[in-house]
Amino acid sequence: MVSARNAKRRARRRGADHGCVNTAAVDELLRRAHGRCTYCGDFAQHIDHVHPLNSGGLHCVSNLTPACAACNLSKGTKILDDPPAPLIDCGSYASAA
Ligand SMILES: [Zn+2]
Ligand SMILES: [Zn+2]
Repeated sequence: MVSARNAKRRARRRGADHGCVNTAAVDELLRRAHGRCTYCGDFAQHIDHVHPLNSGGLHCVSNLTPACAACNLSKGTKILDDPPAPLIDCGSYASAA
């Protein structure tokens, strides 16, 4: 079972979009973060790509975290030295396609 799961994970990694970023996933992200910015604890108004899309990050729930507007904008396309751990796992939300 483990090898099958790894193969699936590898296949997913090839695509930049897994279909996992949907309303349910974003709601769950915000719920787990208590509606707060991951970086500073202020109210989250944005969903930030931890590893920026234009720096090779995935559009994937495991790469998303709630952020306030100030942190999201100031972070920009920087790649963090110490990124926050994923709040939710992609596998639960990815579409079969
Ligand atoms: Zn913030
Ligand atoms: Zn994903």
